[in-house]
Amino acid sequence: MILRLQKCAACAVFAIPFAFFSTSAGAQNTDTDVPPVIDVHVHAMDESFPGGGPMCPNTPKFTASDPKTKEAPFGWSQEECTPKLYPAAKGEYLKDMAAEMKRLNVTAVVFGDPASVKKWEEAMPGHVIPGTSFGNGMQAGKRVALDELRKDFTTGGFKVMGEIGLQYEGLSPSDPSVDQYFALAEELDIPVAIHMGTGGSGRANVAMGKYRASMGNPLLLEELLARHPKLRVQVMHAGYPMMDNMLALLQENSHVYVDVAGLIWSYPLKEVNRYIERLVDAGFEDRVMFGTDQMEWPKLMAYSISVIQNADYLTPEQKRDILYNNAARFLRLDQKTAK
Ligand SMILES: [Zn+2]
Repeated sequence: MILRLQKCAACAVFAIPFAFFSTSAGAQNTDTDVPPVIDVHVHAMDESFPGGGPMCPNTPKFTASDPKTKEAPFGWSQEECTPKLYPAAKGEYLKDMAAEMKRLNVTAVVFGDPASVKKWEEAMPGHVIPGTSFGNGMQAGKRVALDELRKDFTTGGFKVMGEIGLQYEGLSPSDPSVDQYFALAEELDIPVAIHMGTGGSGRANVAMGKYRASMGNPLLLEELLARHPKLRVQVMHAGYPMMDNMLALLQENSHVYVDVAGLIWSYPLKEVNRYIERLVDAGFEDRVMFGTDQMEWPKLMAYSISVIQNADYLTPEQKRDILYNNAARFLRLDQKTAK
């Protein structure tokens, strides 16, 4: 090709299109396979979150407010962006998510009450790893009975205990009142997924009276892990923004993984990348798992994958580890103990 160009300028006119079509075979610079992705943090909604509208991801600011005024429940600044992420039309969310997950080759850990998770399994067979917990978005302090939860995991096919949202109740994961559930997870060798970190949305004081940032401190897991040394823990939202404590816990306990869900699209992009890069630079590239916290906008999954895909500080191998391999190891997919 290069030789022909050097010899004859006129030949090049014909040579370039010929070479393009002969090597492309319908694809530009990759083949048509889509590498698999695991999203370890999806919520089993069957509609886009009620009352939600379009969203510009990675807000650049959390704005101040005056308690004398009527304050919005979120501090995210108003933005314009292209493309915006839109909620699904009424009745279309599950269908849209099934199409997106198929297109992107995503398998997701889907959390919720058993009936809601079943709807996802029916809507996209083979793409759902079912998860449920003792809270399931019920009123604060309300718990699923221990025996019922045991059945979910022993005969109901559930594989992960989560999302455990004790921080929204102002409770530590080491609180003795919930220890029986963690003892069950350890006994059954079920990984637990615990919300730690994000959730303030810049204005938790307005919208979530019981939420405590201090209860998202990853070191609060220390007592729990000492009591249950075999427990496998997914720290949801990577304990953001308590990086130093997160690293200390990862140094201390190699059964602890993190997910980047929520964090990846709801904080300033530079900050998100800095946080993920720090986890990797500190030596924990085999513990970071991709997740979205998907609950409203069907295109959020593709957007969030692109944040990892475009991270120039990650090698291609590190991207695959975060998007798939680390979760497959944590969930023991390679050992066929989960779907
Ligand atoms: Zn969460």
